[in-house]
Amino acid sequence: MASEDTRIAIVGGGMGGLTAAIALRKIAGVQATVFEQAGKLGEVGAGVTVAPNASRVLERLGVLDRIRRVGAVPDGHGVYQNAMGALVTDAAWEDSAKQYQNIGMYRPDLIDALAQEVDPATIRLGHRLVSVETLGSGVRVEFENGADDVFDAVIGADGIHSVVRGAVGQFPEPVYSGYIVYRGVVDASRLPGDWRMISQVWMGNRRHFMCYPLQQRKLFNFVAGIPSDRPLDGAWSGPAAVGELAAEFAGADWDPKLQEFIGRIEHTFWWGLFDHEPLANWSRGPITLLGDAAHTMLPHQGQGVNQAIEDSMALATFLAAADSVADIPEAFRRYASVRMQRTAILQNGSRRAGAMFDAQYEFADLEKRDADLRVGRDFRRSAVFDYDAQKVAEQALNRFQGVPVA
Ligand SMILES: Cc1cc2nc3c(=O)[nH]c(=O)nc-3n(C[C@H](O)[C@H](O)[C@H](O)COP(=O)(O)OP(=O)(O)OC[C@H]3O[C@@H](n4cnc5c(N)ncnc54)[C@H](O)[C@@H]3O)c2cc1C
Repeated sequence: MASEDTRIAIVGGGMGGLTAAIALRKIAGVQATVFEQAGKLGEVGAGVTVAPNASRVLERLGVLDRIRRVGAVPDGHGVYQNAMGALVTDAAWEDSAKQYQNIGMYRPDLIDALAQEVDPATIRLGHRLVSVETLGSGVRVEFENGADDVFDAVIGADGIHSVVRGAVGQFPEPVYSGYIVYRGVVDASRLPGDWRMISQVWMGNRRHFMCYPLQQRKLFNFVAGIPSDRPLDGAWSGPAAVGELAAEFAGADWDPKLQEFIGRIEHTFWWGLFDHEPLANWSRGPITLLGDAAHTMLPHQGQGVNQAIEDSMALATFLAAADSVADIPEAFRRYASVRMQRTAILQNGSRRAGAMFDAQYEFADLEKRDADLRVGRDFRRSAVFDYDAQKVAEQALNRFQGVPVA
């Protein structure tokens, strides 16, 4: 941006908001202010996979080395297996150039790694946004604690139940998918000594179980998806009994090795899965969205955070090319037009991946499902992992400016 004095607010200090703060500073030269509702930065005690498409961005932002140090790179490709543990296909785990591999991250460690790159003086904790209003010049933000301020632009990185989204347009809320996941971590020392240091998925009748290593292989993450008509009653996560989870994967239809893993789990919690149709628009004037606020998606391709990281790089690239505050709305429009296409494909892909993992045996053609999974593996490597968010934004910028792209 032409002026370092440009005032941009990022609402939400999650993985998307923090990455956006880093990208804005390093790529666009803007020191944004991050408003987070919680009293301290943090995340649930579970895992997340940082995929090659995000690692490419994080490397350019100078955070990848730290993430690699605290995360866990698996021994090789992951596996999709049937309920009894027979291999269906291997899973993509690195980009085509073999430069970046999936990294299993304990979520609090990822927040920590990102926060170390953000000046603490620019983070306002305990600020829960309640309203956003576009003024003749600038945007006013108001918080539950009574604070308010005016910024040149506002970025909503405030997650699935975004308040900022309401200032962009009238959109339906994300809907409960009919599935919950049991999530948590297991201390690796509790697992059999020969437990494989890779990502494994077991796919059974209408449910699946996934696990992969985290935190220098000291922890294993697990996510178990099952259908549920549990009334959510306003809450969409909470503590759960391990016995409940074990009962879902009990019996002779399930791999004894998986049952052994579940037997080592000490704590778990449940989490409702929400889905959202792609939004008709992400930006209105000097307000835009990023991460789950813009593209809530089911977790079955492990791309929610990774897309928020791509968003951050693309947004910063378009902002870097804006000459003045007056150009920000156009920069936001350009950002949205590029990112909306990309994330809509992944929203649909995640829904489809879930349907494949959780195929209902009476109705599904499992041979076709398995063939589709094999095709999906190659698509994932080339279309998802090889994607370079910065390069795509730069090429789009050239097209917007009428410069031919080689
Ligand atoms: C079971 C499961 C597994 C997943 N696995 C993966 C994976 O392997 N890889 C992957 O890429 N993604 C994964 N995801 C998706 C990923 O967790 C989300 O996409 C990601 O957390 C979105 O980040 P975000 O920063 O956009 O939003 P959030 O993480 O939701 O952060 C939003 C932040 O905004 C704050 N906030 C909210 N409202 C306000 C307000 N009004 N005022 C101020 N602050 C506010 C919140 O406190 C929070 O800190 C998974 C999701 C689930 C459920």
